[in-house]
Parts: sequence; C-alpha cells; structure tokens
Amino acid sequence: MKIPFVSFLPMEKELNNSLRDAFDRVFRRSWYIEGAEDEAFEKAFAEYCNVNYCVGAGNGLDALMLTLKALNVGAGDEVIVPSNTYIATALAVTYIGAAPVFVEPDIRTFNINPNLIEAAITEKTKAIIPVHLYGQACDMDPIVKIAKKNNLYIVEDCAQAHGATYKGKKIGSFGDAAGFSFYPGKNLGALGDAGAVVTNNKVLEEKIRALGNYGSDFKYHHIYKGNNSRLDELQAAFLAAKLPYLEKMNVERRRIAGMYTEGITNPKITVPYVIPDCVPVWHIYGIRCAQRDALEKHLNQKGIGTNKHYPIPIHLQECYKDLNIPKGALPIAEEISSTELSIPMYYGMTDKEIRYVIDAINEF
Ligand SMILES: *Cc1c(COP(=O)(O)O)cnc(C)c1O
Repeated sequence: MKIPFVSFLPMEKELNNSLRDAFDRVFRRSWYIEGAEDEAFEKAFAEYCNVNYCVGAGNGLDALMLTLKALNVGAGDEVIVPSNTYIATALAVTYIGAAPVFVEPDIRTFNINPNLIEAAITEKTKAIIPVHLYGQACDMDPIVKIAKKNNLYIVEDCAQAHGATYKGKKIGSFGDAAGFSFYPGKNLGALGDAGAVVTNNKVLEEKIRALGNYGSDFKYHHIYKGNNSRLDELQAAFLAAKLPYLEKMNVERRRIAGMYTEGITNPKITVPYVIPDCVPVWHIYGIRCAQRDALEKHLNQKGIGTNKHYPIPIHLQECYKDLNIPKGALPIAEEISSTELSIPMYYGMTDKEIRYVIDAINEF
C-alpha cells in the first residue's frame, strides 16, 4: 500500500466546487488586492478565533515579524522562543534585529516548558512567543502569569494549531496578538502563501495593517517604513471557502490521532502526550524512537511517507552560527531532532490506511 505523508486530494475533491466558485467570484469582480474578499475572510476568521480583529498578511513569518515590529520590539531587545519550533519563529525575531533566547520544551508534549521561562528573562526581554507546536496548545496559564508579572508581551505562534483549544478557549486569544500561517499544508491552508494576525487590540491592529501595507494609513500617506505583506483577494476567497470545513477536518485529524495513540503499542515507540487542558488539532503526529532513522527506512520501504520536525534544531543551523550556542547546550531540542518521526496525518485517510501504518510501526 502507498500512503503519502500528506495528501490534499480528498479535501480538494470535497471542496472542488466551492474553491472554483471562489475563483470565479474574484475573477468576475476583477479586483485582486485589498477588497471585499480580504475583509470578509478577516471578519470570519476573527469570529472563528473569538477575537475582535484579524489582519491578513502575506505569510505566517510576516504575521509574526510585523506584530513584533508593531510592538516596538527591535535591536537590543530579547524575545523568548522555544528551542524546538520551525525556524520561522526565530527568523521573525532576528529580522527585526532582536535576539532570540531559546527555552527548552517538555519532551512529552514537544511544547515550551513554562517552568524554564523565568530563568531566561533578563532586563532586555520584551516578549515571549509560545508556539502551539504540532497542533497542541502550550500550557498557557503559567505563561500568561509570567508575562504579566514581568511586563512582557505574548505573541502566540499559531501557525500549526488553527482551532486548538486550551481550557475551552481557542488559541490566538491568550496574548497581545497571534500569528497564523495559511501555508497549503497547515490545518487551514491557502492555495499558495498567506497568513494573518489576530488581536483584541485596536491600536495594534491598525499599526500591523499599516506596516504590512507600505506603512500607509491611507493611500500615498506613509507613517511607517513598512513592508508589502498583504493577503490577496484570491487567497482570501479560497480561505473563506475552506474555513467552514476546518472544524470537520480537525475532528477527522483527532480521530486519526486517537487510532494511532491507541493502536501503537510497540515499546520502542513513544507516542505524543496531550496535556489534560488541551484539545489538539494534530497538524503533525510525531512519535519518538531511539532508532528513528531505521524506523523511517522500515516505514518508507512499506510505502509509508514520513517526515522529521525538525531534523536540525535552530541553534545548530548554519545561519545561526553567530549565536554561538554549542551542540549540547539545548539537549531536549537536540534529542527531539534525533528521535522524532512524523507519520501520515491528513483529512481523508481511510481506516485501512491508518491500520496499515499502525501495523507497520508495531512490527518494527
Ligand atoms: C509554518 C510556520 C510558520 C511560518 O509560516 P509561513 O506561512 O510559512 O511563513 C511559523 N511558525 C511555525 C511554527 C510554522 O509551522
């Protein structure tokens, strides 16, 4: 049997008509940037996240970077980021000239360990970026408490967790603002690059909107040296067409994850742990295994696609040599990098396919 790591085909088949309608509507209107589609999606997505405002952006990296910029974080400042995340989280910080300070995760959940945050705070610290990695919410109560006590901003990185909840509340509403990515492979994906910021702060919303639109508050009037990072009409229309299906697709991911967690009984494998307060949306289902590379080879030979999130931790990436963080300094992130394996997870996987993956893992 051939099971890819990810396939959009079942979802695209189901949404075929609504995506084509979305294209037709935009094409008929012949208006492509800053229009009714963007406005409608922003409204719908803010409602979905239970926040007051949403600002479309070109991608998830820009959403985070523009938010930090709007909060006046920059050169000389430090921002706390998890040592285990996609590199975009750190790039958003270094782009605006600030320094990332890495905090290790809880190896069971892969998410930032709140108990280690306070030790990383200095007088230069301006913000914390909790990343709700692989679709599971961070333990937000202690993070919010630490941020309040130390007068720090919280910018949530929600790129992998559209719709995940913590204590019954959707992620994206716990901090000052939150960045989302709509990269095609994310739980809510565009048909290209797209992103957004959500916030309850009107002043911040207006500043982020201006910063992503050449720093302009109205046409040809520029109050900031801004960027060009907007959500275009076509992607907004596609996202609006897909948003009503997001809950259903997340429920399906939870069903697949449930089958994996129950079915994988091989003692060589550790399945992900979910904290009691979190309802995850399983962007990624990551197992851990000491013989990870052999397991990957075994699964690939059986036709099962896999991936690693992420094979090289950020502090050991070539581009961050200047941070001078030696190998061994962040052992939990390094341990995850060498043991984590992501197995197929996408809307439309059949029971037969899920069981085939489980059997192949158990026979390793
Ligand atoms: C995908 C991702 C981003 C960046 O999103 P893009 O839309 O690709 O720029 C940021 N943070 C995390 C954790 C991500 O997974």
